[in-house]
Amino acid sequence: MDGKIKFIIKGIYLFLLIIGVEILVFIKDDVFMWIPWWVIPSVAFALSVSAGWFLYSELVKNYKEKNLFIEIATHKFRTPISVIGWSADSLESSIDITARREEVKKIRSSLNKLKEIIDTLVGVTEMNESVFYHFSPLDIRKMFEDVLSENIKKELEDKKIKLFLNFKGETPVIYADHKKISFVFKNLIENAILYTKEGGQIELGLKENKNSVILSIKDSGIGIKREDIRYIFNDFYRAGEAKKSDTEGMGLGLYVSKKIVEKHGGKIWVESAGENKGSTFFVEFKMDKYRQIS
Ligand code: ADP
Repeated sequence: MDGKIKFIIKGIYLFLLIIGVEILVFIKDDVFMWIPWWVIPSVAFALSVSAGWFLYSELVKNYKEKNLFIEIATHKFRTPISVIGWSADSLESSIDITARREEVKKIRSSLNKLKEIIDTLVGVTEMNESVFYHFSPLDIRKMFEDVLSENIKKELEDKKIKLFLNFKGETPVIYADHKKISFVFKNLIENAILYTKEGGQIELGLKENKNSVILSIKDSGIGIKREDIRYIFNDFYRAGEAKKSDTEGMGLGLYVSKKIVEKHGGKIWVESAGENKGSTFFVEFKMDKYRQIS
């Protein structure tokens, strides 16, 4: 259910409760003489406090979500834009072809970074609102093929990471928003590459159960400490080791991914045996009658 609808329902609920207490106060002396005098004022007080707290927390949440957008925009755009500027200056002044190629490479990588930031911003803006979700049949194998773009293949090549696709036969079709689900798997695969050292490996798996399909992305990377696991899907959370291997991360990809998967009625979670023992991310989609297309 959308945040706004939930907000309205909760508001109506509280309003009705308060009206109920008011009516009780009004008719108490006639009907409920057995109720001690202090009960109704206490209930009214508790209700007013919870109504106040509810309004306050909703306002803070709203404010936080708006600020999140501005915060990412102001902080994260700065570095890639500056790099593009410096490289453009160097391109103008340098005639050495190798140096020029290096600058073009930097511009390309900064443009990719900017695209990633924009995708995350779009994700943050749309993740909670049903109107932004457009569901249609999606073949899982096709989705993975699209996600494994040239950029990702290049990243794998640069780090000499082997990728295994452990799918046999036909893959199931789920009912999903293509763009949003692609965002989720692109983010999971990019993280697997980012947090795996050179020469490592990544395995994409698929397991079909009677009522669900579970996709997995297993890497041989830096792993996740037990105490970090429960925070990994929170906004802006980045584990200490991750901050060392990638200073540019935003800590928002998994947060947005979780919201998207839940909007599909699915589940996302991670397992890791600990530091330097790799991680496996799982995404489960229910294959009930409504969602299964094929
Ligand atoms: P970011 O990668 O920008 O930090 P994410 O939300 O995608 O943001 O990830 C949040 C955190 O989860 C990362 O900073 C890292 O600590 C941890 N993490 C995510 N994927 C992996 C992985 N494959 N291996 C180890 N840690 C991971």
